[in-house]
Amino acid sequence: AKNRGPGLVEVFDEAASHRSLDRLALRSELSHAVERDQLRLRYQPIVNLATSEILGFEALLRWHHPVRGVVPPDDFIPLAEETGAIIGIGDWVLAQACRQLAVWQRLPGRSRLGMNVNLSATQLQQPGVAVHTLGVIKDAGVSPGDICLEITEHSSIRTDVTEFATTLRGAGVNFALDDFGISYSNLSHLKRLPVGTLKIDRLFVDGMTAKDTDLGIVRAILAIADSIGLAVVAEGIETAEQRAALLALGCERGQGYLLGPPLSDEEATALLLGAGRR
Ligand code: C2E
Ligand code: CA
Ligand code: CA
Ligand code: CA
Repeated sequence: AKNRGPGLVEVFDEAASHRSLDRLALRSELSHAVERDQLRLRYQPIVNLATSEILGFEALLRWHHPVRGVVPPDDFIPLAEETGAIIGIGDWVLAQACRQLAVWQRLPGRSRLGMNVNLSATQLQQPGVAVHTLGVIKDAGVSPGDICLEITEHSSIRTDVTEFATTLRGAGVNFALDDFGISYSNLSHLKRLPVGTLKIDRLFVDGMTAKDTDLGIVRAILAIADSIGLAVVAEGIETAEQRAALLALGCERGQGYLLGPPLSDEEATALLLGAGRR
């Protein structure tokens, strides 16, 4: 910007300083979000694609900011990871999701319902996290086997995480590798983590009915999963055509706007009491 005259440089600097002020404000507000009761969970159904039976839900975080309105997780989780606020937030998410599951499992015919919770790599690296996580699950009164922790493949997942996951897996907690296929070294994570489920990223589901490469990738992921005995959940199913294509390839479980958007707890309760019941 140096050569474009002093006026432009000033404008640029002003915008940049606004942005950093904005981030500073967000940072400090984020550190109070839990105690100010500004966080909410939405629950997206995970269903059997052939029968539409609801197998469980994925808990998805929202920040109800008093001025900004509902802030989506992609807009604040990276910041929360940077500041460490994700530790307190992640504890709240896990406890809240487990408590909600305990309530839903008491509904008629819902005792085996599952709950998927997203974990950030930062959370995994806290000392004592395995014992702590197990304590939160047990305090909520749910069985570890009904909880699935979703981990996004990430270069920062290191070997110390393997120990965490192995301890929790030993206690019955399930693990899913989230957004499978969109990052690198995903197959090596399968060797290091006790993962039971792959979640096919919606990028491939989105393209599979139009592009042969995406269809081929989905087919390859299903073949890998099958040969090493992993379950698969396809994400981002938006059309009946995508659902049919996945079923034709032998994919049994899915998630997406076609099957159900992320719901409030009241909406999900209504769904569990009414349609979708088997
Ligand atoms: P994700 O784990 O891959 O979650 C799936 C995202 O896809 C969600 O976005 C969901 O609302 C959206 N989605 C579901 N079905 C469809 C569909 O049919 N079409 C399209 N286009 N999108 C669909 P959301 O809720 O905005 O979450 C974004 C990401 O934020 C999540 O991606 C996850 O990585 C992260 N996240 C959400 N909640 C938490 C949390 O409690 N802790 C952590 N660490 N991360 C979270
Ligand atoms: Ca997820
Ligand atoms: Ca995902
Ligand atoms: Ca994602």
